[in-house]
Amino acid sequence: MPVEKLSYAIDDQDRLIRVDDGYYRFAEENGWDGAGDSLGRSLWDFVAGHEVRKLQRLLLRRVREGVRGVELPFRCDGPEVSREMEIKIAAGKSGRVVLFSARVRSEEPREEPQPLLDPSVPRDNDDFLPMCAWCDRFLVEGEWVEVEEAAKRLELFRRSEMPMLDHGICPECNATLLAA
Ligand SMILES: [Zn+2]
Repeated sequence: MPVEKLSYAIDDQDRLIRVDDGYYRFAEENGWDGAGDSLGRSLWDFVAGHEVRKLQRLLLRRVREGVRGVELPFRCDGPEVSREMEIKIAAGKSGRVVLFSARVRSEEPREEPQPLLDPSVPRDNDDFLPMCAWCDRFLVEGEWVEVEEAAKRLELFRRSEMPMLDHGICPECNATLLAA
């Protein structure tokens, strides 16, 4: 039976300090190399793609410093299946240790294996996501919002292609900088 749930936790250095049984079985099912010695390794060793990494780092910082917890849909395809998942990210009291728990919402076989979020996969370069380089907010539907809100509204982690981040400055930061 396919794995339905998994969880893992990282310390203040973003190193994996706890992974559950579901994690190992999921890794095996999906042919992740080297998952057996995940403990102690950096979470970022397992995240492919510059933009994805950047967004996830921002999200993690927001969880640690502000919102404490967030729940998001994301795609995590296996070699032969397309898979919709949901992940909960929650910070411990100190905000240093962060727990991730993911569950599979649906899984369907797919015809052609296609690497998800692989940076070498060609993408639609017209797809830009404006981001303020000062406050790290994103312009979504005419509104500047925090990363977790942008991820929710645009379902960023569900996409097979990430938009390119277009660094600029939001009107609020622009006003602050002009006044300084
Ligand atoms: Zn700004």
